[in-house]
Amino acid sequence: MLRCDHTTSSTGFVTLVGMKTIIPSPATASLPIVGSDQRFPVRRIFCIGRNYADHAKEMGSSVDKAAPIFFCKPADAVVSDGADVPYPQATSDLHHEVEMVVALGNGGRDLTPDQSLALIWGYGVGLDLTRRDLQAQAKAKGNPWDTGKAFDHSAPVSALRTAADAHVRAQTTLQLHVNGARRQHTTLGEMVHSVPEIIAALSALFELKAGDLIFTGTPAGVAALQRGDQFHAELQGVAELTGRIV
Ligand code: MN
Repeated sequence: MLRCDHTTSSTGFVTLVGMKTIIPSPATASLPIVGSDQRFPVRRIFCIGRNYADHAKEMGSSVDKAAPIFFCKPADAVVSDGADVPYPQATSDLHHEVEMVVALGNGGRDLTPDQSLALIWGYGVGLDLTRRDLQAQAKAKGNPWDTGKAFDHSAPVSALRTAADAHVRAQTTLQLHVNGARRQHTTLGEMVHSVPEIIAALSALFELKAGDLIFTGTPAGVAALQRGDQFHAELQGVAELTGRIV
């Protein structure tokens, strides 16, 4: 297993610490940690699509167990718990997708599911916010999903809880309320690809590293959010996320 070094990588990349940069270096996105004043730095955000059969069905799709769908969001799309989420530009159909989020504390590539478990640092809950109209247009044209998925503020995520403290089981519930009404609800046992299977499949495509987040898919019930809506996402006993669309 390859491990991430904070100053150099296997390709010789050297960080700019202490060096003068021609423009200000972008800030590192990060998330709070339950019970700690330290934060979790976010490197990349990977997402899996169609990982609950009931959601795939509501989107008019089916599940292909042999061919998981992956897409990415930029690290600086994260929004911390409690913060307002601006209604994005260029859409009139902003959808919520509540998802368990896995945070990696180690990296690697070409891993087996058994090896993948050792990468998990912790867990949280997030919203894979989606400009559904732009995603539908992209799907119809066979174009990439980036405009529908990878926009600014598209990844509200709760404070993270360490794997040692997070009791994540098949019967753990994942749910989302909007303005007090339940919109989405499932148990983690309904996932098509398990967390170790997702990590293993991603590691066959990308070298994963500490700081990576993985959105693990959404159950049925995705629907539109409007300005003023209050959301409350919960991964039972592990994480809660609240916020408001403004
Ligand atoms: Mn999703």
